Amino acid sequence: MANDSLLKFVDREQVYPAKRAAEDRADDFREIADRYAIVAAEDQAGRCSQCGVPYCSVHCPLHNHIPDWLRLTAEGRLREAYELSNATSTMPEICGRICPQDRLCEGNCVIEFSGHGAVTIGSVEKFITDNAWEQGWVEPLVPGPSRGASVAVIGAGPAGLTAAEYLRGNGYEVHVYDRHDRAGGLLTYGIPGFKLEKPVVMRRVDRLKAGGIIFHEGFAVGDDASLDDLRRRHDAVLIATGVYRARALDLPGADGDANGKGGAIAALDFLIASNRKGFGDAVPEFDDGTLDAAGKDVVVIGGGDTAMDCVRTAIRQGARSVKCLYRRDRANMPGSQREVGNAEEEGVEFIWLSAPAAFEADGVVRARRMRLGAADASGRRAPEPDPAGDFTLHADLVIKALGFDAEDLPALFGAPELGVSRWGTVLVDGKTLMTSLDGVFAAGDIVRGASLVVWAIRDGRDVASAMHKWLKARAKNAKVAA
Ligand code: FAD
Ligand code: SF4
Ligand code: SF4
Repeated sequence: MANDSLLKFVDREQVYPAKRAAEDRADDFREIADRYAIVAAEDQAGRCSQCGVPYCSVHCPLHNHIPDWLRLTAEGRLREAYELSNATSTMPEICGRICPQDRLCEGNCVIEFSGHGAVTIGSVEKFITDNAWEQGWVEPLVPGPSRGASVAVIGAGPAGLTAAEYLRGNGYEVHVYDRHDRAGGLLTYGIPGFKLEKPVVMRRVDRLKAGGIIFHEGFAVGDDASLDDLRRRHDAVLIATGVYRARALDLPGADGDANGKGGAIAALDFLIASNRKGFGDAVPEFDDGTLDAAGKDVVVIGGGDTAMDCVRTAIRQGARSVKCLYRRDRANMPGSQREVGNAEEEGVEFIWLSAPAAFEADGVVRARRMRLGAADASGRRAPEPDPAGDFTLHADLVIKALGFDAEDLPALFGAPELGVSRWGTVLVDGKTLMTSLDGVFAAGDIVRGASLVVWAIRDGRDVASAMHKWLKARAKNAKVAA
């Protein structure tokens, strides 16, 4: 392809948008990365070598048309770039911000392998759609001609919102039920603003509302209605409830003293409270200091992305010190290296190869040195206590970020016949994406277990198409029978 704006990776360096200085960003919840200026985005897009087999797209869960929208961007055809990027994703600007690109698209860019540094795909993707919002190119959601059928979506996270958008576009009346008072799922209440500013999520939700999707916020399925109630009210139901049962820390003192004081608090309680404060809500448990890290020595336990979000939130709340205890070493942690780097820049201290042993009075945390033993079944070296011994540290606030499991949905929903795995995730047929209950589908983390936003969007896209197929067949059969 002869095109002057492309194949510039040899003489044009990889440049990510500048990050704000650590001192500047450590006391606010604004995103830490600036956005490309138009020229920079076009320049960076022009580094793409337009591979015949684009491994970037192969490894993007949405199989986005990456080289095509990079080419359009490099040529300055930004509206077309936006339209193409939007064709495969309901939230490209959100994925551009929070996908772990180093493990997905960018980690598989051939230019990365050739030693020139990957094309900065995520940052360009974010630029394209942010720019489209500013230019007024993001079209309203237009419902398709009415099909006279209605669908319930339980859960307003990325999986539920994506399915709702496509189903509405196909002419269904769509009702989204969520137990929170705001839609967005973990985009709204889990992921902190310094990774994803909330207006970016809310403008997506508002667009869906304007497109006629009916939101029932503050509606907990299990309390306010059973699954059967929703099955009676709607022609099909989607379960997209995510996974919220925090893994326990089975250690002396972990649950606090007899008055419930001390012990370790759950990561999501801490993050939800912080995000709510960002919205300007009154949060009694934050306002009375329980969930506020200000002025405290904070210890976070865990090495995943949730732990990274907690340590960085504690810094922004004005903690006196923030330490992260993780039982493996840096190379073997599940969280993103990029996020660890950001946390270190902001003043977080990582104590690798360490695990808590007990929580005692006056904020004493007894901890244990660990070392890596033989590889387990998954190939990862298992941590084991190191005879090098124990140590203590002081914490006014301990946060446990050990991962999430599925809630007991059959019990919660009053639906014992809903099939679940031994981990509690909902089982679906691989082809129809339907659960064991006729007309009830499932998608997102509640099917996969804790995963990524981009996979939730992919699942939402797939399940909307499967539900549409099923509803069309049902309508056809009803016509034949009539
Ligand atoms: P969710 O986003 O969890 O949404 C489920 C919704 O269902 C929620 O709104 C919930 O209120 C609602 N719900 C649950 N039960 C009921 C009920 N009984 N009745 C009514 N409503 C109900 N992924 C990334 O790709 N990048 C990141 O940087 C990243 N950071 C993360 C940080 C944290 C702290 C956490 C916890 C996760 C992070 N993830 C990240 C993972 C990502 O957020 C999830 O994989 C994704 O949100 C799953 O989408 P979902 O739609 O399946 O579920
Ligand atoms: Fe990369 Fe995620 Fe965008 Fe796909 S959705 S191109 S993986 S940033
Ligand atoms: Fe462009 Fe890299 Fe994708 Fe190849 S792998 S098409 S160079 S972004």
